Amino acid sequence: MAYLLFFQIFLFSLIKIAPFSDAWGKEGHFMVCKIAENYLSEKASRAVSDLLPSEAGGDLASVCSWADEVRFRYRWSSPLHFVNTPGVCNFKYSRDCHNSKGETDVCVVGAINNYTAQLQSYGGDSSGNDLSESLMFLAHFVGDVHQPLHAGFAADEGGNTITIHWYRRKSNLHHVWDVNIIETAMKDFYSDDLNSMIEAIQMNITDSWSDEIDQWQTCRSQSVACADKYASESIKQACDYAYKDVEQDSTLGDDYFYSRLPVLEKRIAQAGVRLAAILNVIFCGDSAVSK
Ligand SMILES: [Zn+2]
Repeated sequence: MAYLLFFQIFLFSLIKIAPFSDAWGKEGHFMVCKIAENYLSEKASRAVSDLLPSEAGGDLASVCSWADEVRFRYRWSSPLHFVNTPGVCNFKYSRDCHNSKGETDVCVVGAINNYTAQLQSYGGDSSGNDLSESLMFLAHFVGDVHQPLHAGFAADEGGNTITIHWYRRKSNLHHVWDVNIIETAMKDFYSDDLNSMIEAIQMNITDSWSDEIDQWQTCRSQSVACADKYASESIKQACDYAYKDVEQDSTLGDDYFYSRLPVLEKRIAQAGVRLAAILNVIFCGDSAVSK
């Protein structure tokens, strides 16, 4: 019996520490949703509270990693967290947005479009869709698509198969962008306080990036969510920053950290502002976020 219990605990701990690198870490998603909350219109904010499950306690940010928690229960949702290109630095929906079986629309860009459309039925006929889940998926996937390596190369699974050392610790390139850069920034600059990091990013939005905010929220297709554009930017940044000067077994340290952190912080800002903009349009038909 004791053996069995020990074995169960062992198994459980294995599950807990298994490398899980397919999304911004919890911190990344939390920051995106916290920033979005600051820009929600009153009407959107009311609709969001109405749709949130009770365990969220009225706070969108608290359920922004829910989609990662259900990845194994909802196996079909696993390919919705990313998109891969065939080794090129641009994104093309018809070429890239499919799962490993070639089924079209099954990628993070298709998912954002799909959940945006579902949420637009709020207040009317939701055709049997659970709009609470649609909201939690949308909030999560808008975060994911902004992580440059969530639009990476298929051959290395968005950097997952590129083993590197982050300073002295073994990691992989995808995990560096999901978790390690944020962790190091928290430790070095923000006394391990996530709220300080959010405040710093927020300050940049109202200050040095304020002129760019209008442009962040629009795209040529004038669709509610400009998911194609977000993925195009990500694969470009994956090439220009994430993959750049990195090889199998590279050691990444200060040079990489200091030059990539500003890129990552801006992606979190863009994801937050855009998530709010999308929700504002969905729930009020308003144009989105003003400075
Ligand atoms: Zn994810």
